[in-house]
Amino acid sequence: MKTDIQIAQEATVEPISLIAEKAGLQAHEIEPYGYDKAKIKLDLKVDRKADLGKLILVTSINPTPAGEGKSTVTVGLADALNLAGQKTMIALREPSLGPVMGMKGGATGGGYAQVVPMADINLHFTGDFHALTSAHNTLAAALDNSIYQGNPLKIDPRRVLWKRVLDINDRALRHTTIGLGGPTSGVPREDGFDITVASELMAILTLSTDLQDLKHRIEKIVVAYNYDKEPVTVLDLGVAGALTVLLKDAIKPNLVQTLAHTPAIIHGGPFANIAQGTNSVLATKTALKLADYVVTEAGFGADLGGEKFMDIKVPRLGKVPDAVVIVATVRALKHHGGVALADLNEENLDALAAGLENLGQNIKAMQRYGRPVIVAVNRFTADTEAEIDLVKDFVKAQGSQAYLADVWAQGGAGATDLAQAVLAEIATTDADFQPLYTEDAPALDKLQAIVTEIYGGGSVELAPKAQKQLADFAKYGWDKLPIVMAKTQYSLSDDAKKLGAPKDFTIHIREFVPKLGAGFLVAMTGSILTMPGLPKHPAALDIDIDENGQITGLF
Ligand code: ADP
Repeated sequence: MKTDIQIAQEATVEPISLIAEKAGLQAHEIEPYGYDKAKIKLDLKVDRKADLGKLILVTSINPTPAGEGKSTVTVGLADALNLAGQKTMIALREPSLGPVMGMKGGATGGGYAQVVPMADINLHFTGDFHALTSAHNTLAAALDNSIYQGNPLKIDPRRVLWKRVLDINDRALRHTTIGLGGPTSGVPREDGFDITVASELMAILTLSTDLQDLKHRIEKIVVAYNYDKEPVTVLDLGVAGALTVLLKDAIKPNLVQTLAHTPAIIHGGPFANIAQGTNSVLATKTALKLADYVVTEAGFGADLGGEKFMDIKVPRLGKVPDAVVIVATVRALKHHGGVALADLNEENLDALAAGLENLGQNIKAMQRYGRPVIVAVNRFTADTEAEIDLVKDFVKAQGSQAYLADVWAQGGAGATDLAQAVLAEIATTDADFQPLYTEDAPALDKLQAIVTEIYGGGSVELAPKAQKQLADFAKYGWDKLPIVMAKTQYSLSDDAKKLGAPKDFTIHIREFVPKLGAGFLVAMTGSILTMPGLPKHPAALDIDIDENGQITGLF
C-alpha cells in the first residue's frame, strides 16, 4: 500500500496559475510562491456572482489519537462535488509542526484525497506560521524591554499574560525563567512558551477581515496588568504597526490544489482544543465569493471545532453553514465502545453499538443549530458490512442519514452518494439557524449552554480563581464576551479517559484567559495545556530525506 507522501509525490500537479484561473481569479490577483502555491491578494474585488456560494462544514465525532479523516473527507467531498459538475472550492487550516513532528501527522488529507504540495504545506508552506511566531515574539521582546527601560507603563512582572511561542511541541518550555544574568540582561521574571497555534495573534489573523481590522485587533491585546491591576495593551506598548507589518503577507490566503485539481485555500491554523479551530474568515469568504460550493473543516469533534464554528466564526463570517457533515469511523466508534487501539481491526458489534452514543451526542449537538446534518462514514479496509449497516441504522434513528466515504482509496469517485445527499439536503432545507446563545449573554449562561446542549453534560464548576476573574472582568465588560473552550478533544467531558457519551458530568474551569484582540475569553478546563509535549515515539523519528531530496515517513 502506498503512503500518503508516495501518492502525493507521484501526482501530476498543475501550475498554480491554471488553478487560479479555474477558481475564477485573474493573474494580477495572485502572488505565486513557486510553481504550485500562491497567495491571494487582499484587495480582491470578487463580485463575479450575485450570491455567496453554499457552505458545507465538515466536523467529526470525538477523535482517537490518530485523527478520523476529516481533512481526507473534506478533500474527497469537494472532489466529488466537482465531479458532479458543481463549481467547488475547499477552505482548510494550515498544519502546525507540532502534530507533524509529534503524533497525529499532517493536515493535508490522506490516500487519494489530498491537497498538494503535501510536504511543503505540512512543513514551512508560505511562511505564515514563521511570521506569526516572529510577530508574537517581537511583542514579547517589546514588553520585556519596556519593563527593563524604566517600566513607564508600571507593568507588574508577576502579572504578564503574554508568553513566548514556538511552532513545536516542547514540554520543557512550558515554564521558564527569563532575565537572568545581572542588571544588563533584563528583569528576571517567570515566563513560558505556548505553541504558535495557541497565540492570540493566530486567532486574530483568522478572524480579521482586512489589514486595518488586523491592526485594530492587535492594539486591543491585553499583554499584562500594571501595579494597579489595570490592563496594559499593545496600544500602550506602541508596536501594533510593527506587528501588522510582520503579518502583511501572512494575512493573505494561500491557494493550492487537490490531487484532482480542485482549488483549495489553506489559511490560518488554530487548534480546536485550545483555540477556535477554524481556518481564516478571509479564506472562507474568498472561496464563497468564487465558488458555488465551499467545503470547510473545523478541528477535532463537533463538540470543539463544530461548536466554535457556529458560535465564534459564523457571526464574524456573516454566513451560516448550509449543511454539516459529521465524519465518523467504525474504528473510532469501537474505541469509544471500549476497544483498545491495537484491536480495532476486529469486528465488534457490541462495542460499536456502545460507541455509537458518541456519534449520537455529536449529531444532536449539530442538529440543534437547525442545519441539515449528514454523517460520512470514512471507510477503512477492515470495516465489515455488518458494522457499516449498524452505523447507518443508528444514524437513521437519530433523524439523519449516513453515507460511506471511500475517498481515501478512490478520491472523489468514492463519495458520489455523499455528494448527492449533501446537494439534496441543501436544496430542500428551509430551517432557520438557531444560535446557541446571544452574544451578550452572561459568561455562566454561555458555559452552561455549551456544557449541557453540546457536550451532553450536567454542570459547570468554576475554580475560585475563575470566579474572581469573572467578577474582575465585569469592570471592563469582558464578562459578556463569547467563550472559547480549551478542552480535551478525546472526550465530550474534560477528562480524556471518559470515552463514549458520558452523562451528568461536570466541566471544571480553572481559569479564563482574556483575548481582547480576538474578542473572546478562553475557558481553560481540566488539565488542558497550551504547549503540547512529544509522545514516546514522535513522528520525527520516522521522517527522512534521501540524496535526491525524496522525503519519506512524513506519513
Ligand atoms: P483528521 O482531519 O480527522 O485529523 P486526516 O484526514 O488528517 O484526519 O487523516 C489522518 C490520517 O489517517 C491520514 O494520514 C490519512 O491518510 C489516514 N486516513 C484517513 N482516512 C483513511 C482511511 N479511510 N483509510 C486509511 N487511512 C486513512
